[in-house]
Amino acid sequence: MSEARAVVLGGGAVGLAFAAAAAAEGMPVRVLEGGPSRPAADPDLYDARVFALSPGTRAFLEAIGAWRRIPADRIAEVRRMDVRGDDGASRLDFESPEGRPLSWIVEGNRLARALAESAAANGAALEHGIAARSLQAGASGIRLERADGAVETASLLVGADGVDSWTRTALGLASTAKRYPETALVANFRCEKPTGGVARQWFRQDGILAWLPLPGDRLSIVWSARGELARDLAALEPAELARRVRDAGGAEAGEMVVEGTPAVFALRLVRVPRVAVAGAVLIGDAAHGVHPLAGQGVNLGFQDAKSLADTLARRSPLERPGDLALLRRHERARRADVDAMQFVTDRLEWLFALEAPLASRFRNAGLRLVDAAPLGKRLLAAHAMQ
Ligand SMILES: Cc1cc2nc3c(=O)[nH]c(=O)nc-3n(C[C@H](O)[C@H](O)[C@H](O)COP(=O)(O)OP(=O)(O)OC[C@H]3O[C@@H](n4cnc5c(N)ncnc54)[C@H](O)[C@@H]3O)c2cc1C
Repeated sequence: MSEARAVVLGGGAVGLAFAAAAAAEGMPVRVLEGGPSRPAADPDLYDARVFALSPGTRAFLEAIGAWRRIPADRIAEVRRMDVRGDDGASRLDFESPEGRPLSWIVEGNRLARALAESAAANGAALEHGIAARSLQAGASGIRLERADGAVETASLLVGADGVDSWTRTALGLASTAKRYPETALVANFRCEKPTGGVARQWFRQDGILAWLPLPGDRLSIVWSARGELARDLAALEPAELARRVRDAGGAEAGEMVVEGTPAVFALRLVRVPRVAVAGAVLIGDAAHGVHPLAGQGVNLGFQDAKSLADTLARRSPLERPGDLALLRRHERARRADVDAMQFVTDRLEWLFALEAPLASRFRNAGLRLVDAAPLGKRLLAAHAMQ
């Protein structure tokens, strides 16, 4: 039997995490990333892309050797969440019952570097600037032709190439996409008052605004704003943008100053009913696009990476990595989690986008009800900490 090898197409956070996990189990892995190699992060700048990482993600990143490679002074703990409705009064405030952090905020570039280092340390190879031209996949292996003419063969191809996945199209895997009416603006700020480890979220008439704590006196925002608002905000002078963000958050952090360059992202719900064919499987955003209002997209992707690496490591000696039955086991293991997150985020987005007065009363009453129920809050905190 020839040695089992995996090729990962896409060296984002999820592809690198799978590579690190599978390589740690002894599987030779090559990661082919389309983009150029990333320069070392400037210590004076904070990346505009930040992720809220759940305790389940932290445990996985620790296990694959990535967590300790993220500089400790660039990790911000979230100890409390304060969620407000759009009537100015409704509120849901919760913290971890045991006093442990609910999540950790980490910059995208530092997370990617830590993952690339742990993938390399575990024995995975990473190549940048690779474009794929064609792909054939079957249970006995895959053949990937690159644009530079080189041919990659392996026992399994893992498509981790993001929400517009080339792999998904090349494999003929069906997907449905829904464009949300919001566009997300992300930006970092230096603030007059420290955030105190509190993540805040406002469900507003014009969209959903989240403030995520960064270390010290900084915070990062994701403003999923309806219509053209996110683009209009991004085009403002920095001082005017800071004023708008300060006022939208009731000046909870005092005066604010924009740091770095804001960025905007289109938001889509992408459902992929089948993520596997014989010889190939999708993970991360390639397998599911979710609204960022719950900050769970990359967390879902990391659990895909973990599940796939575990399924491969535990396969019987008679099974090949590309066997469809094996890949379907991974697919089934992930289905409920992905479906539940897509359902909840999609319904919340819908509920808060409704303009009817009754809808407003209903959603704000819902927030107040959960806030008043100790059991509901415990359940919510427990879910946030998975
Ligand atoms: C505004 C916003 C805020 C968010 N906040 C959070 C949060 O707080 N917490 C959270 O969990 N999630 C969050 N998410 C979701 C998160 O960004 C994604 O789920 C995550 O980036 C997906 O990682 P990925 O590795 O699957 O895909 P990507 O990050 O898209 O990486 C895909 C990689 O594949 C490469 N690639 C693409 N095509 C090819 C190809 N053909 N060949 C080779 N390489 C290719 C790309 O260059 C890229 O490096 C947020 C999303 C948005 C838009």
